[in-house]
Amino acid sequence: VRLRLLGTAAGGGFPQWNCACAQCAGVRAGTLRARRRTQASAAATADGTRWALVGASPDVASQIEDFEALHPRAPRRSPIAAVLLPNGDLDSCLGLFVLREEAPLAVYATAAVIDGLITAGRLVRTLMRSARQVVFRPLPLDENVPLCDVDGAPLGMRARAIPAPGKAALHLDGVVPRTPEENVGFVLRADAGAIAYFPSVAGPSPQLAAALAACRAIVFDGTFYRDDEMTARGLSARSARAMAHWPLEGDDGSLAFLAGLAPRRRILTHVNNTNPILVEDSVERRAVEALGVEVGHDGLEVLT
Ligand SMILES: [Zn+2]
Repeated sequence: VRLRLLGTAAGGGFPQWNCACAQCAGVRAGTLRARRRTQASAAATADGTRWALVGASPDVASQIEDFEALHPRAPRRSPIAAVLLPNGDLDSCLGLFVLREEAPLAVYATAAVIDGLITAGRLVRTLMRSARQVVFRPLPLDENVPLCDVDGAPLGMRARAIPAPGKAALHLDGVVPRTPEENVGFVLRADAGAIAYFPSVAGPSPQLAAALAACRAIVFDGTFYRDDEMTARGLSARSARAMAHWPLEGDDGSLAFLAGLAPRRRILTHVNNTNPILVEDSVERRAVEALGVEVGHDGLEVLT
């Protein structure tokens, strides 16, 4: 599998449109050693020609334009054949509405995520005007599912949805019962080693650890460095953990967990604009890199 990170920022991007914190202002002014980032999403291919998006971010249109391999080859012919949704958050789904002219698309997600979109969200009917426009296919948990386009032609790779500690999409919070299907990561595999893509993880679980230990490369939730990153700055009333993102810092942080998964490649994505690891000469960035963990950037690729 060849996996390319199209975007590596958390919701809002970096810089975020309504934010002039030191990091957002610094990257705008060019005074900070940091890269701009679009909202987290990736693209995977087994044959180099047909692609599956992993997450459809609100930035998907510019992400496609910035990556030649995703450009259409003929009028109304996109190399994007499928989309995998890790959860029902608008940050992972809004891109589907941006792609609404680009029929046909096979969308893979757990039944709970599909149900949340379709039965709780009438908006999605705009994607289902014809039988071949957007086809939703429920992913059972922990099973290898061959990815196909809407007509059933295989893309040459399999996806396994692994439940990850998390939360329901904001618009479903408190409306639907909790289920392990509400948030998943994906293990993508062709013939060679597997790549894990887990952009949203609230904490550890035995199933998560087992799935990651079987992968050659891991792309993982790097949203927040500290649990109080937002609250300490008065940007939110909720801690990282309350927002279902496992902070990197501390003995029980995700960085210590990822350090234990060496020496395989470990790459952070979905990095919030408040996270000090965005600043390339920060002590936090050095702490991450000292453990052999990479901070992903838009355009980074993993090949297995
Ligand atoms: Zn900011």
